[in-house]
Parts: sequence; structure tokens; C-alpha cells
Amino acid sequence: MKKASLEARHISLSYGPTEVLRDINLKIEPGEFFALLGPSGSGKSTLLRLIAGFNQHQRGELLVDGQDITGVPPHARNIGLVFQSYALWPHMNVWDNVAFGLVERRETRDAIRRKVAAALELVGLSDYARRRPGQLSGGQQQRVALARTVVVEPRLLLLDEPLSNLDKNLRVQMRDELKRLQRQLGLTTIFVTHDQEEAMTTADRMAVLDGGVLQQVGSATGLFDEPVNRFVAGFVGTANLLEGRIEAVDEDGAIRFDAQGIGPLRLPASALAAAPPAPAPGPAALSFRPHQVLLQAPAEPTDAGRVWLDGTVEGAEFLGEFSRYRLRVGQAVVVADQAHYAGHPVLEEGSFVRVGIAPAQVRFLAA
Ligand code: ADP
Repeated sequence: MKKASLEARHISLSYGPTEVLRDINLKIEPGEFFALLGPSGSGKSTLLRLIAGFNQHQRGELLVDGQDITGVPPHARNIGLVFQSYALWPHMNVWDNVAFGLVERRETRDAIRRKVAAALELVGLSDYARRRPGQLSGGQQQRVALARTVVVEPRLLLLDEPLSNLDKNLRVQMRDELKRLQRQLGLTTIFVTHDQEEAMTTADRMAVLDGGVLQQVGSATGLFDEPVNRFVAGFVGTANLLEGRIEAVDEDGAIRFDAQGIGPLRLPASALAAAPPAPAPGPAALSFRPHQVLLQAPAEPTDAGRVWLDGTVEGAEFLGEFSRYRLRVGQAVVVADQAHYAGHPVLEEGSFVRVGIAPAQVRFLAA
């Protein structure tokens, strides 16, 4: 199938006085599997519906393969949208549901037979053609909805929270399935999700939205390793954020950071810390991941490659693969995940520990 590109340029949309999308700029490459990720109310569905043509932006341009489609009605866009609810016809069997769009387009009987059979085969439902949607599982219904959408060969495929109606086990299974289908179809696909794990495991790249503002675009590892602000750091994975002030960046690239409630720290230069936005003197947060923190007993010798702080265990949760500790460090709180091995006891509340932070794994986020 043909792969289209999509570009949003300075798109803004308001409902009355409420700005729901603010100056969105985004480029999605042909064949990409792209996620719109954000918390509830961040504007994801509004943006998806805008691409489908059901919402109209007041400012900006929306381009498919370089052509502005602003004002083109939904049916003339040739963009397929799979609704969260699947929206199948309950009184029609699977075959007729899938054939519906082709019949509407007055395709020949032969073409319809060929295309519906191919679409059902693609989603693995050839044997279910005579069933009604009500006689199918949630996962199967979703596959029918997909088949029905791709059978008319859209330029772009849009999926609204594609996995949210499925139970947890099926969701994980359908993640792989969806990826396989997308690869097989090669269709540029954009899906909406509020679930960071879902976005990270399925999408090639994703855009993180908050409050109608696009925060950052990147791959899962790109966003996780190099978040540009506090929101992305906390939304894509878990982050420790120590607020404070960058006092100076030394000649050798080391950063002098005065952490609120902890005191001055000097962190040697690291590529991660220096990635854009480059640290500069002023208010900032020191950001690092819980699993990158190393805990040691106060008496153990500490390795010189880390910055070591004194901490007290305030809370401990045993999660099987790892234990998650909430540590009091000065006036601040640090979360640390420690891999669990048989025979290693979980640290008790009130224990004193040395908290080791790896300078190569920290980021500085400007205010
Ligand atoms: P998300 O998909 O990220 O949960 P939405 O795009 O559905 O977010 O909504 C974004 C914001 O726009 C929300 O604050 C919502 O209340 C508001 N909104 C959505 N649709 C309408 C509408 N038709 N009229 C007024 N406000 C709306």
C-alpha cells in the first residue's frame, strides 16, 4: 500500500475560549508507526480527529504528502480511523462489516470478494466470516474493525486507544499483533494512547502532549534518556527530580549544582547531561532514574565514579524483580529501584544507606 507522510504546521484549535491544541508542529514519515501519548485531556483525541477531518483547526496547516488538506471533508481524505469502540455493525456478519466500505464505493463483486478475503486473512479471521460481532472476543472484534478500515486502502491509518478495551493479557498480545500488522501493511499509522508502556513497546516514534502543547517527539529510548523537561521525564518512565540551581559549569564541563535541602554537588561532565537543552547557570532540576541509583551499606567502600549522599530508608516495596525504596536524603526524597536476588533481604525502614548517583546517567532540566 502507498505510504503517506503527515505534517502539522502551527496547528491551533480552540473550543470557545479554551485552547485545546496550541501551535502543534509535527512531521510523521511515510510508513512510521507513530503514537500520540499524553494524559487524559491533553488533546490527543482532538488531534487525531482533526487529522481524520472531524475537527477543524482555526490556525495552521495539515499536510498529507505535502498537500494541505485543511477543509477537505472526512470522506474525501481517504484516511482510515478505527474507533476505540470499534463501531462495528452488530446486525451484519464479519464479511459484510468488512465489505461495507467497498460496497459503498461500488466496487465490482469480484474485487469485493478478493479484497475482503485478503483483509480477513491478514487479520487471521478467514474462518469467522459468517459470525456476528457479538459472537467474537474483544480482540477479534478489533481485528474486524482493522480489516474493515484497511480494506479500502487508506493513505493513513488512525487508531484511537486501540488496546484500551482489551484485558491486560490480551493487550500485551495485541501489541505484537498490531506491530506485525502495521509492518505487513506498511501503512503510516498514528495511534492515541495514555499508556506510556504501550507507546514505548509499539511505536517507532511518539509525540508527548500535555495541556495541548507538544512537549517532545522521539523514539522510546530517546525520550527516556533525554527528556527535555520535567513533564516528559516523569511521564515517560519514572524520574527523580531534585530541584535546585546550577551555580556554574566549569571549564572541564563539570556542573556545580546546589540541590535544595541537600547542598552543593559537583557532577563531572557527561554526554547525557550536556545533551540539549545544554545546562546553564540558573534554576534547574537534576533528573535521574530510580534503577540507576545504587544503594550501599554505610560501611562498604564506595566507588569513586559516583556521587554519594547519605540517606535513610523511609519506605520499601518488594515488587519481585526489584525493590523500590523511598529514601530521605537531606530534605529531599529519592526513589531507588534495586534488582532483587534470592537471599538478599529487603532493607528495613529506618536503615541508613549510602545513595550513589552515576553522573553519566543524570540530566539537567531547566526551569
Ligand atoms: P485526550 O484525548 O488527550 O484525553 P481530548 O482531545 O479528548 O483529550 O480533550 C482535550 C481537551 O479538550 C479536554 O480538556 C476536553 O475537555 C476538551 N474538549 C474536547 N472536546 C471538546 C468539545 N467538543 N467541546 C469543548 N471542549 C472539548
